Amino acid sequence: MSYVLGLNCEICEEQHLPDYQGNTCRRCGGLLDVVYDYDRIRAGISRKEIDARAPTIWRWREFLPVREESIVTLGEGCTPLLDARNLGPVYGLERLYIKNDTMNPTGTFKDRGYSVAVSKAVEIGTKQAFTYTSGNAGASFAAYARRAGLNAFILVKGWASVEKLAMMRSSGLPVALWDFESFEPVREILRRASEELGAYQFTVFNNPYRHEGNKSYAYEIWQELGERAPDWVIHPTATGGGIVGSWKGFEELRELGLANRLPRMVAVQPAECAPIHKAFLEGLDVAPRFGTPKATIAQSMSSDAPVGEGRRVLSALRESEGVAVTVTDEEILQGIMDLGLEGVFSEPAGASAVAAAKKLARQGVIGPSDTVVCVVTGTGLKQPDVVTQHLGRTVPRIGPNWDEFVGFVDSVWSRS
Ligand SMILES: *Cc1c(COP(=O)(O)O)cnc(C)c1O
Ligand SMILES: [Zn+2]
Repeated sequence: MSYVLGLNCEICEEQHLPDYQGNTCRRCGGLLDVVYDYDRIRAGISRKEIDARAPTIWRWREFLPVREESIVTLGEGCTPLLDARNLGPVYGLERLYIKNDTMNPTGTFKDRGYSVAVSKAVEIGTKQAFTYTSGNAGASFAAYARRAGLNAFILVKGWASVEKLAMMRSSGLPVALWDFESFEPVREILRRASEELGAYQFTVFNNPYRHEGNKSYAYEIWQELGERAPDWVIHPTATGGGIVGSWKGFEELRELGLANRLPRMVAVQPAECAPIHKAFLEGLDVAPRFGTPKATIAQSMSSDAPVGEGRRVLSALRESEGVAVTVTDEEILQGIMDLGLEGVFSEPAGASAVAAAKKLARQGVIGPSDTVVCVVTGTGLKQPDVVTQHLGRTVPRIGPNWDEFVGFVDSVWSRS
């Protein structure tokens, strides 16, 4: 059972049938948005049934564009929403929450999107696929594509961490490094790959199904907060798929009468590479290319060109009365240490969310009793080097004797 009506172009509004196999609008090349029959969903869902299903994004399968028999899952989603009882007081926020997406199968939120995109690929009978990635997307795609038995390969930016690369290679799928200065020739290669080689690009960032998986944030957060939306959702933002998907999910909850108010969305970007932030401040509807991706430690959220020119992110920010904010590498490193207070180990991109919460609380944009959800998008195990560099390589060493042991104890505990 699928409740999809079709795919609409975000620019010219051209409608496409549910079985349309392109990634983008056939008329103008714009991004496509999956449209559902919400009246039928409303009539077709049972809250009891949803709650009884296994804790993955597919618990909400009526809201996803794939039939049940095609689902490829590794148990993604339904990650913990932690009450930040240690960190909240430090930031002066009484209701600070951490959505711990480091708990996903490959350690990042990308699994929400790839589970849906790869499932859709299976549904339409795709055999050959590939993706292009800065790291986390490749690791996620590799896991789902392998599990689905696709004939797939992965192209990855040369600056991806050894940890990310190792994870992709462990899938046994072919991996190659792919670097370029300009995206124009690449766009042409991607087009020819699908037209001449039949390699279905269900996996690159302009794929309409990937972002549908990110709607699951909204359903989960809403449920975990006792069936209400928070005041703010802060999302690390590069191409914008995460924040846009989450916003669509909240809108659906309102459409179905399940949520009576919506959160304000916050896009956080690294200071060195913040096209959305710049466009937002300038009041633009599109975000021109801007920034230097390699200039920040936040690899996974460093893109100078958001997908669909940032149209959807910018409209989500405006519609939700949200904001865009930037954080420096130094603030991100502090964010990683701050998350340590809650037992969460985050990669730089994920920690930008709490760095943004801190900044917006200081600036008075976020009020002390507002309910704030920071989405921590990826695990620190993907990029542990930044922490080692930040704290220094030297760790105290003690020998197996009482004197050295107690000497260390005295240096860390004050004994009276
Ligand atoms: C991909 C990624 C982001 C950015 O997400 P977009 O959907 O591209 O905006 C943020 N954090 C982590 C850990 C990621 O892997
Ligand atoms: Zn169009």
